[in-house]
Amino acid sequence: MRLSKLFTQTSREASRSDISRNAQFLTRAGYIDKLMAGVYSYLPLGLRVLNKIEAIIREEMDAVGGQEILMPSLQPKEIWEQTDRWQKLDVLFRFKGHGDRDLTLGPTHEEVVTPLVTSFVQSYRDLPKAVYQIQTKFRNEARAKSGLLRGREFRMKDMYSFHATSQDLDEFYDRVIIAYKKIFSRCGLGDQTLLTYASGGAFCDFSHEFQTITPYGEDTIFCLPQTDVAVNREIINEKSLIQDIFNQKSIDDLEEVKAIEVGNIFKLGTRFTDAFSKTYADTFGINQKIHMGCYGIGSSRLMGTVAECLSDDRGLVWPEEISPFDFHLVALTGSEEERKAADDVYYLIKNTGMSVLYDDRHLKAGEKLADCDLIGISNRIIVSSKTLLDESIEIKKRSEKKSDFIKILDVSTICKKPDKVSA
Ligand code: ATP
Ligand code: MG
Repeated sequence: MRLSKLFTQTSREASRSDISRNAQFLTRAGYIDKLMAGVYSYLPLGLRVLNKIEAIIREEMDAVGGQEILMPSLQPKEIWEQTDRWQKLDVLFRFKGHGDRDLTLGPTHEEVVTPLVTSFVQSYRDLPKAVYQIQTKFRNEARAKSGLLRGREFRMKDMYSFHATSQDLDEFYDRVIIAYKKIFSRCGLGDQTLLTYASGGAFCDFSHEFQTITPYGEDTIFCLPQTDVAVNREIINEKSLIQDIFNQKSIDDLEEVKAIEVGNIFKLGTRFTDAFSKTYADTFGINQKIHMGCYGIGSSRLMGTVAECLSDDRGLVWPEEISPFDFHLVALTGSEEERKAADDVYYLIKNTGMSVLYDDRHLKAGEKLADCDLIGISNRIIVSSKTLLDESIEIKKRSEKKSDFIKILDVSTICKKPDKVSA
């Protein structure tokens, strides 16, 4: 894609209404646009990143056996009354449709998925099952002030699993934990994202959150340096749990840090299958309860968290797997000689199947380089009269200082799809 054709532009000015780091950089670089608090448009660069994050999530959910579906956002009051959450869930949007019908927009989908999946479950042979969707969710959040971190309309992957026994649920749950670790590693946050014990709410003793450590986080967690587990502040007073998790350590040994919750998984048990009176017949034909798990990741919050945590003073720094383009190509001064050579490089790269954002604008070199840093594409290629002296280009990673020089004819050697980082 040619930058001269992109309909968005970068801006040097800080946004006055959004103070969070992710919103500042994502807005200035042209990734997102705010309609009102907690509600954003995704522009071409932003949608590419979001789609890449969601593709990673999709791959890892497929790998654990999840089947992708898409459920309705628009939902009737009755299913929410059946689980006693119409009044109790404070973030639920409630409004009237035709004929005075009470409606909501789904903030989560237990009320839809439980009757849906169990309608295909008669006996033990029909279990286990796992379905997931990646969808826009709606929550009437009291405070939506942190860019993509807390939206009123936001993107989420939610998976739901159904099991004949709680042991079967436990096994699947542990596999999802591993899949989640892979997802966060592939998005560049593996080192700073901790499996965190949190309160289970109404469903179970505790749930697991995936918390990414950053001073800008809303949550407070306690962790033991050099380990990848933590506990949320809410449950920190359960001494026996602390000893179990941290191998006989006490609260005083733990470090208190701020973090962003990027994912949350729960063992729901029979809370929802009971509410909808759903059971299965065991080998003796006797009705038994169906056990459920639910597994959420906020894909838009994850994008915001990467922007928040991996940026530097000059702008965004995307990890290779979720960079909007593989390369940011710059014809440095825009002289005819440079543009001709850069055109060649552009087509050479595109022919390998890699993606490239080509800055072919008539702007000063300094402005183009500042835009490279702000937009944060993982690899930058510069074509300048200096590099052309020996028919070379300069290539540099956004996350590193040092650059390399390679011959234009050898461009295809750098066009390798990024390695999938393992957890
Ligand atoms: P929080 O504690 O941050 O309010 P939650 O515990 O209510 O979130 P879940 O219902 O577990 O969130 O949702 C699953 C995931 O969806 C969360 O882990 C988070 O990544 C994401 N998420 C939840 N609420 C929002 C929101 N308002 N904006 C963006 N992402 C969100
Ligand atoms: Mg949560």
